[in-house]
Amino acid sequence: DYQVHIIGGGLAGSEAAWQLAQAGVRVRLSEMRGAGDMSPAHQTDGLAELVCSNSFRSDDADKNAVGLLHQEMRRLDSVIMAQAEPAKVPAGSALAVDRHVFSGGVTRALAEHPNVTIVRERIDTLPASGMTIVATGPLTAPALATSIGQAAGMEHLAFFDAIAPVIHHDSIDMDQCWMANRWDKIGPGGGEGKDYINCPMNREQYEAFVQGLIDGEKTEFKEWEANTPYFEGCMPIEVMASRGPETLRHGPMKPMGLDNPRTGRWPYAVVQLRQDNASGTLWNMVGFQTKLKHGAQVELFRTIPGLEKAEFARLGGLHRNTFIQSPKLLDATLRLKSAPHIRFAGQMTGCEGYVESAAIGLLAGRFAAAELQGRAMTPPPADTALGALLGHVTGNVVSADYQPMNVNFGLFPTLDDVKKKQRKEAYTSRARASLGAWLGEIEIA
Ligand code: FAD
Repeated sequence: DYQVHIIGGGLAGSEAAWQLAQAGVRVRLSEMRGAGDMSPAHQTDGLAELVCSNSFRSDDADKNAVGLLHQEMRRLDSVIMAQAEPAKVPAGSALAVDRHVFSGGVTRALAEHPNVTIVRERIDTLPASGMTIVATGPLTAPALATSIGQAAGMEHLAFFDAIAPVIHHDSIDMDQCWMANRWDKIGPGGGEGKDYINCPMNREQYEAFVQGLIDGEKTEFKEWEANTPYFEGCMPIEVMASRGPETLRHGPMKPMGLDNPRTGRWPYAVVQLRQDNASGTLWNMVGFQTKLKHGAQVELFRTIPGLEKAEFARLGGLHRNTFIQSPKLLDATLRLKSAPHIRFAGQMTGCEGYVESAAIGLLAGRFAAAELQGRAMTPPPADTALGALLGHVTGNVVSADYQPMNVNFGLFPTLDDVKKKQRKEAYTSRARASLGAWLGEIEIA
């Protein structure tokens, strides 16, 4: 006898279950591990198992967006943050945990909660009715993934991410780059035909860059990733570079139709950046999905003219990763528009990271509880870390190609009048005030 069915007992599902249970809602939490199934990355049957690093990243709530998210989640009674505390291991200003102590703590907290029933079972189809939260993560079992694809449209479900680096706009040197569309074409949305930022390269720079891509240290695919075909349309830039010196100049680095206003001519090659969020604080490198190691990416991409001081909100990657096109499919409270009894949470929604997944789980749980109990609940304000992340998932994105992202200040409404040096602290203190006001509001509602 339960009121909400949560599928998946990972970071997001565990947090959603806790939030609902604490609000007095009876939950069934279905987890396939412990019932004879295992994802390719998990190794235990504990809830909220950390599959790779044991770090929740920076715990600095004044200067770091993920640290701020920690703080906001603690204020909202997060079980993930609470159980990280007794599991802590020394890690400087980061929050890192003993993964067994942590997972054991989360499992116990939920098992002992009178409103939670943990059932070890694999779910293969989306329930046709009854309030449901799907939190099956980046390695969702195949049968359920197919069922989700049928409900959402297969074209809106990805099995791999293909992540191009994203750069903070205020770190781009616009004295070297310029805004233009190829052939000055005006897009269907109108405008002046100046949608892209173009970074020009001469022949020498281009050739060195191509060599850098070929020589740079790469991350290997895991064995279970390498066996899945995925390459259509999202080939890593270094693989393209290795096909011949001209390949990129005829692909993503094509200069044709791009007059550099400083020379009146096309450069030898071009790197194009396209706006990634509605406020224009984030720009992605078009066609630059890559498996280069993060350090190698920063080093090589800073050799691109105009990007010498680039600060990256996200670095490139390619992984097995099941996720949906959330901004198209979900409403503001994470419900599937075409089947509103179903909510999505966690990495499946296109957030990235343990903490972010748990944060979206927290919101899904709270939205579901409010709906069930007939309470009004406005989403968290856009200038909080929770609100900024939710904005990425449910609607801020202008890029046609939705890809997973960690929380970062580029997702927050801008504070242009604050000096760059003080901006991080200005973001976090604004967020704290805003969250406080919001918490007051949802208590009254
Ligand atoms: P998960 O934590 O994976 O939880 C999903 C749960 O659903 C699992 O317990 C799974 O067993 C269960 N499940 C799946 N299908 C079914 C089904 N049909 N029925 C019932 N249960 C089901 N993030 C970081 O911050 N740091 C890292 O170092 C990091 N490394 C990663 C390494 C790998 C290999 C992968 C794939 C991801 C990594 N991530 C990392 C990204 C991501 O943050 C984590 O995967 C995170 O666990 C996602 O949380 P989640 O709750 O969405 O999914």
